[in-house]
Amino acid sequence: MDSKKDIRALTKDQLREFFQKQGDKAFRGNQVYEWLWQKSAHSFEDMTNISLKTRAMLKQNFVINHISVDTMQRSFDGTIKNAVKLYDGLVVESVLIPTESRTTACVSSQVGCSLDCKFCATARLKRMRNLNPDEIYDQVVAIDNESRLYHDRPLSNIVFMGMGEPLMNYNNVLKAIDKITSKEGLGMSPKRITLSTSGVPKMIRKMADDEVKFNLAVSLHSARDEVRTQIMPFNATFPLNDLRSSLEYWYSKTKKRITYEYVVWQGINDQKEDIDALIQFCKFAPSKVNLIEYNPIDDGEFQQADESAVQEYIRELERHNIVVTVRRSRGKDIDAACGQLANKS
Ligand code: SAH
Repeated sequence: MDSKKDIRALTKDQLREFFQKQGDKAFRGNQVYEWLWQKSAHSFEDMTNISLKTRAMLKQNFVINHISVDTMQRSFDGTIKNAVKLYDGLVVESVLIPTESRTTACVSSQVGCSLDCKFCATARLKRMRNLNPDEIYDQVVAIDNESRLYHDRPLSNIVFMGMGEPLMNYNNVLKAIDKITSKEGLGMSPKRITLSTSGVPKMIRKMADDEVKFNLAVSLHSARDEVRTQIMPFNATFPLNDLRSSLEYWYSKTKKRITYEYVVWQGINDQKEDIDALIQFCKFAPSKVNLIEYNPIDDGEFQQADESAVQEYIRELERHNIVVTVRRSRGKDIDAACGQLANKS
């Protein structure tokens, strides 16, 4: 591996300073920064308004680490899955999900995952490392390009629902979002970005203190500790009471509605007491429930509940004036659906 520093790890100010120290104009830093971020240059040769001498000097000092889309698979429903190779050869996946009105990028934040949700394929990979901000940003750019190419429109939304737990790589995720939303990056509105977390109370509080402007989704799956701990064992460390108070804090600070992601499984959370617990949990802060279809991950331990159980959830939630939506799986045929990202290819 190259021991030179990745130039994209520098902030704009650091780049300006670098050029000043070289006896050049600070403004050169702005030009290079624009090449790196707005124009997504993959090499110093691309930087045509920078002198050959300066380009050679940059090449001596830095590398430009860039992801590369290793394989791209397209589902019959228009979903696209990218296997993305990182500078050190590790691979993560990201997904483009088109609907009639929007194109959503589902991006990864870690290689593997340190959490142990029993129903998720990524959990079986173990966490290998956190992604750098530029590796997250590049996934979004790659999907934006594919969206323009295959669907004739730019990317409209981003969800952090790929591999990894974004709140376990909070600083880098935040830096990536800063870049995605800044005028010097993609200029996207934070309102179109959703971070999905399995629920790390300490970090939810931190996010609230940071007054972030993007949306929050929490993978709840059960509002009963004994059930949640069984399917998401880290719940023993961060029980529902802690989660709940961190979410109350989030709402008090941001006034932003929380989305709960929820799969209904046969014999696990398909009883009336499960529904009652969820309704109670939804009452302390404005929220919405997103019922997700289960995507089997081969061993058959979990099974999607009967449609009648799902309908019962919908009926009861609506009766209590809780907004509920149902998310149908997309891209199942290419293992691109929620919880199926595991670098199979
Ligand atoms: N670590 C984050 C984001 C990744 S998962 C989180 O836990 O929220 C994105 C969503 O897919 C989560 O709600 C997760 O619980 C859900 N999920 C995981 N495995 C699944 C599966 N096999 N079928 C359906 N949804 C799944």
